[in-house]
Order: sequence, then structure tokens, then C-alpha cells
Amino acid sequence: MSMRARAGSSAYRANLRKRAGSLDLAGDSPHFGRLCFGRSDLRILIVEDEPTLGNQLKTTLEQTGYAVDLSTDGEDGHFLGSTEEYDAVILDLGLPEIDGLTVLGMWRREGRDFPVLVLTARDSWSDKVAGLDAGADDYLAKPFQTEELIARLRALIRRASGNTSSELVAGDVRLDTRSGRVTLAGEPVKLT
Ligand code: CA
Repeated sequence: MSMRARAGSSAYRANLRKRAGSLDLAGDSPHFGRLCFGRSDLRILIVEDEPTLGNQLKTTLEQTGYAVDLSTDGEDGHFLGSTEEYDAVILDLGLPEIDGLTVLGMWRREGRDFPVLVLTARDSWSDKVAGLDAGADDYLAKPFQTEELIARLRALIRRASGNTSSELVAGDVRLDTRSGRVTLAGEPVKLT
């Protein structure tokens, strides 16, 4: 139907409901990230030398809608992070070639400022402090729930993009989940 339908008309409301129906407000659809950030090209780098964990994370994140590169050692991981653009990095600390903390320090000195979520099997305060000192944005000790990793990753990307609002976007429909306000093509919409 035409976008010029009068706001408040029943045809307008029916169209809005139809379009809003494609919004995933619960946040657990594969498309949530895309809706939330209004982009379809979020790129994640995973640097993890355990093949089973690395491949499982890659598959899960791809199913969640991210484009994912997987690196299995510190040297290759550092190179990718230095030369490619990523929205976030998941970095294991215990890595062959160059350890994760060193890789992180190198990136930060090079001015690479993507958010980094550090993974480690060593759940100790000293590792955590060293990771945060080296420029990690968040920290997750193995073993962890994949759901928690995805939630933390999403929060990191949201913070890094400066989008701390709870606005969901699909096409020209925007929903502010805090205020409950909906706009369509910039025009406020009154929901019945
Ligand atoms: Ca490791």
C-alpha cells in the first residue's frame, strides 16, 4: 500500500502492524543484530586455537547473522586484526606463535580500537586484570555458555557503535523500546 496513507487510518495501521510483525522484539532471531544496528555487514574475528571451539563459535555466530573470520594462531590473528575491519574480536589468550595478551597490546598500540572480548581457560584475577590492562573490553572464562558470549558480544558492539539506545530499525520503521514510540519514515505513529 502507499506510504502516503493517512496516519491513523485503518489501512495505515494494518500496514504498520504487518511491517512491525517482522520486527524481532525478543532479540533472539538471527536477524536481531541486523535490525538493531541497521546494517547487515557486522564482521567478527575469532582468534581461537582449539579447533572444536573455534569452529563451533564461528558456525553459531554465522547463524546469528555475523560475517566471521576464524584464525587459529596469534600471528595470523594479529595480521587479520591489523589489516581488516572488524566490529568486534573474540580473542583467546593461550595461542600458538604470539599469545593473546601480546596480540591485544600490539593492536592497541597500532590504534586498532575494535571491542575485544577475551576468552581464557585461566579463570584468575591476574589474567583478568592483565587482559583489561592490555585493552580488553570484556572477559569470559571457559567454559562458558554460547548464549552469554553472544549477549556480551552484542552489548560490546552496541556500546562501540555509540548506539546505547534501545531503538530497533526495520526498513523505515523505528521502535524505541524504552519510550514505546514508533515512527514510520520519520513520522510519529500512534499505536492503538
Ligand atoms: Ca587456547
